[in-house]
Amino acid sequence: MKIYICEPKEIDQEAINLLQKNGFTLLTRVRRFEAEALFMRTYTTIDYKYLQNFPDVKYILRAGVGLDNIDRKECKSRNIEVINAPGSNANAVAEYVICMMILVSRSIILQMANLDRNLWRDRTLIGRELSGSTLGIIGCGAIGQTIAIKLRAWNLDRILGYDPYLGQAALRNFNIQKCSLSRLWRESDFITLHIPLNPETQNLITEKEISLMKETTILINASRGGIVNEKDLITALKNKAIMAAALDVYENEPDINSELIKIANLYTTPHIAALTIEAEKQMCIGPVKKLLDILSNNQELL
Ligand code: NAD
Repeated sequence: MKIYICEPKEIDQEAINLLQKNGFTLLTRVRRFEAEALFMRTYTTIDYKYLQNFPDVKYILRAGVGLDNIDRKECKSRNIEVINAPGSNANAVAEYVICMMILVSRSIILQMANLDRNLWRDRTLIGRELSGSTLGIIGCGAIGQTIAIKLRAWNLDRILGYDPYLGQAALRNFNIQKCSLSRLWRESDFITLHIPLNPETQNLITEKEISLMKETTILINASRGGIVNEKDLITALKNKAIMAAALDVYENEPDINSELIKIANLYTTPHIAALTIEAEKQMCIGPVKKLLDILSNNQELL
């Protein structure tokens, strides 16, 4: 099978080796239009226009979880199977989120910057503990559940969860109390988002929702840019409507709105929540293994 690696720098070498070991032909850019499979990650948009150039594609491998950059209806109409790696980066993202909860609530980065400038501790930056706090998780799938499991030992007061597609019984296993969005906005000390970007979730958080949160709330978005309205977040943070926010994802990547970087109570990272050695391997190798399984079940010749 001929495969084109759309984002070569983004695909782990072990996954490439596995493809080669199993007889796949890796196409060069010049011959890419002969591809029967595409291997992509975050910065390729698979839509009608893109697929026009790839008449023979039968499989799309997506290294990662989110499928918001793939027009799945278009793929279905062309009989193209989309293969991703669900749960492959849940641990990495969960660790990132817990890290940001502590970094932000304790102003650790600001205190470190002070020390770099020869200033001793700033008592006005005194922080709060996770213990006794309320966490609100929006989207209680693989990542949301992993966060809840990891926080079992941290003595939070409670974990609230909003996920219209999961019932109370499913969430109870993870010590998450199912609740409405309005309650989650009002009661959470920390709010973290783990939902796909789609028309239903775009601009889920605007000025209106932020105005319902506590002034001490810390908002974390490591899901997708566009779910939190950046313009409204900037205004809210400037007005101290909430304590702080941490963003790993942006409306425009990698050319992000430069104003975001200038805001003192906004902590920004360059889409690294899932960037660990372990997750990289699982995200890239997972779809290759699935494709190999499908092909061997179909008894197709490689
Ligand atoms: P998942 O599919 O396991 O879980 C997503 C959950 O969101 C599901 O339980 C679903 O029912 C729920 N959901 C869907 N629409 C919702 C809505 N409108 N309101 C509330 N809940 C809703 O996915 P996951 O592995 O937990 O990942 C979540 C998202 O995080 C992905 O879609 C991806 O876009 C993003 N992500 C980002 C990074 C990163 O590097 N920053 C890494 C991994 C995943």
